[in-house]
Amino acid sequence: MASFWHDYPTAPRTGWVLDSTGDLGRDPKNHILCEACGEQRVRYHHRVHHPAIGAHLEVGCECADLMCAVPRAAAAAAQMRNRASRLNNFPHLAGWVEARSGTGTRLTRGGVFFLENTAATGSFYYSLKRDGGDWERVSGFYRDRDAGRRAAFTHVYPAEIRHSKRLILR
Ligand SMILES: [Zn+2]
Repeated sequence: MASFWHDYPTAPRTGWVLDSTGDLGRDPKNHILCEACGEQRVRYHHRVHHPAIGAHLEVGCECADLMCAVPRAAAAAAQMRNRASRLNNFPHLAGWVEARSGTGTRLTRGGVFFLENTAATGSFYYSLKRDGGDWERVSGFYRDRDAGRRAAFTHVYPAEIRHSKRLILR
């Protein structure tokens, strides 16, 4: 079978949008040929479309990654927006629970155990454990509880872009 690019050589190679993915099962008889490259046998098929040309294709994951790749700058911007909204939501998560024994308010989130304590002055201060590691102290005392919780979030998830490569691939 010829590839899509063979039949439509001027069609865009990037800017495709992933609509859905599916599993055709273990039996190779049910697997399809990737409609983009015409070479890969596909068990996990990705339905993609291109908004500019209105084409729909069923492709394999390698082709889908290339066709739907987000440009680096756009991915970084999306990641920053995502972090900003997580940061704003963090102080208000329903998971913050006051311990009955009066030993502080705690939250477990993303493998991190956050502990909020109140100093004698009435300010809040924070400690945390990541994946069962040692206690880490978040620097500072906070009159404003929301500001303190945001500082604890920033301690674990600093503002600089990390893992951006993984983000770009999906
Ligand atoms: Zn392919």
